Amino acid sequence: MAEVRIRDVRKSFGHVEVIHGVSVDIADGEFVVLVGPSGCGKSTLLRMIAGLERISDGQILIGDRVVNQVPPKERDVAMVFQNYALYPHMKVYDNMAFSLKLRGADVGDLDARVRRAADILGLTALLDRFPRQLSGGQRQRVAMGRAIVRDPQVFLFDEPLSNLDAKLRVQMRTEIKELHQRLTTTSVYVTHDQIEAMTMADRIVVMHDGIVEQIGEPLELYDNPRNTFVAGFIGSPA
Ligand code: ADP
Ligand code: MG
Repeated sequence: MAEVRIRDVRKSFGHVEVIHGVSVDIADGEFVVLVGPSGCGKSTLLRMIAGLERISDGQILIGDRVVNQVPPKERDVAMVFQNYALYPHMKVYDNMAFSLKLRGADVGDLDARVRRAADILGLTALLDRFPRQLSGGQRQRVAMGRAIVRDPQVFLFDEPLSNLDAKLRVQMRTEIKELHQRLTTTSVYVTHDQIEAMTMADRIVVMHDGIVEQIGEPLELYDNPRNTFVAGFIGSPA
């Protein structure tokens, strides 16, 4: 676990600023959901926490460390994407082991980590399968497995459920929350789905056009939206 502190962060692509000074303090072990309409800057903010995108101004701290200049693989964060990004030619085992191999992990340690993650996610019987032989939900679990094996302090999720059908989405919400609790990590979860935000978050960060409109617990936002944007976004069913 680690705190994540985002301090007055700005991001420009070329001459266009898309994140206009965002500050959010995320506590150790918290499950924070970033929510807002498409294009408001959720993925960009997440990618800046992961180090996949440089920040143009401000600071990001993970634990007590300013990570602005720290490359992604030294940040102790792991990211789960919407499109799973599994390697089609690798078996489940190798998909999960790959990032550890890249980091030069000891083979015995690597094997133990992959098997532990498979056990946690119910993937043990599927380790020899290829991604094409898996259902959508199973693929999503493999994607989470790839994050878990690294035992990161911070989990970043970018709309991980948006390719799944409605029933599976509900089930996976619960699984992700259980995982978060079981592994005692800090999680930052991006979605444009209000229901997902309301049901999963310890606190919700509502974004709009590159700024934070409001931060609060789900019911706090629901009962006391600061403005009509938050009211419309949190109040209206998905
Ligand atoms: P969200 O995830 O909330 O849908 P994004 O973070 O993907 O939003 O995008 C925020 C804004 O930044 C959008 O206007 C998008 O077009 C722009 N943007 C994102 N990535 C790039 C990029 N690599 N180059 C230029 N503009 C980008
Ligand atoms: Mg996005």
